[in-house]
Amino acid sequence: MKVKVISVLEDNYMYLIIEESTRHAVAVDAAVPKRLLEIIRKEDVSLKAILTTHHHWDHARGNVELAQLYPDLEVYGGDERVGALTHPVSHNEELKFGSINVRCLLTPGHTSGHVCYFVWEDDSPDAPAAFTGDTLFIGGCGRIFEGTAEQMYKNLTEVLGPLPQETKVFCGHEYTARNLKFALKVEPENDIVKEKLTWAKLREDEDLPTVPSTLAEEFFYNPFLRVLEKSVQRFTGKADPIEVFAALHKAKDKFRKPKEGLNPQAMVALELGLFDPLLEKK
Ligand SMILES: [Zn+2]
Repeated sequence: MKVKVISVLEDNYMYLIIEESTRHAVAVDAAVPKRLLEIIRKEDVSLKAILTTHHHWDHARGNVELAQLYPDLEVYGGDERVGALTHPVSHNEELKFGSINVRCLLTPGHTSGHVCYFVWEDDSPDAPAAFTGDTLFIGGCGRIFEGTAEQMYKNLTEVLGPLPQETKVFCGHEYTARNLKFALKVEPENDIVKEKLTWAKLREDEDLPTVPSTLAEEFFYNPFLRVLEKSVQRFTGKADPIEVFAALHKAKDKFRKPKEGLNPQAMVALELGLFDPLLEKK
């Protein structure tokens, strides 16, 4: 199975999962149809379904337009607010697209209906992949708009953490360098954080994606997966894992850089999907 990484908008990722023997494809977070259609043409594949991680406009905006173009298109998601939804999914539900298998993992927190997708191919030597949307980022974790720190902690430690360690992590945004700067603040002595940050900055300079990482790697530098480490506990001044996680999350919220040209209220509105600044400009 091939995963095509497609950078869109300021820092979002769309993905196209391709079954190479049939050239059938499943999209993840089809936010920009025009760009997706270009890639579909270039790769010469036929689009069968969309997996949507959550309803925010920068992940789901293209669903309605694509559903009109492809009347048989299946649209999966965990939230009635997902545009053109045809198949609401439940936790651990398994889907099959030819030889491609998908397990839907409900991960409430960023939004109440957020879903991560664990994907693997039958009889393939390729490592499985997890499409983690705005739940697990490389070196970080998503903001909590519709849930609790405890839910997000469980998403990371009980739902995503136990997946096979070689699983490739494909997340919803390119926030890696910024996340690792925060990780370094949390663990100034962690050499793996330093190395990954140096690498992420180089990728940023060359305008190249930092996805995918692997789950095994994340456990070495992502502070949100390291709440049992003494260094992370020391940074937060807490010992209970959920309290460490919550304190870490709060500290990260303060560390965030507001998007250029947007005031803090607009930034929150944008992340909540209340308006689309690209449409506003037209
Ligand atoms: Zn979002």
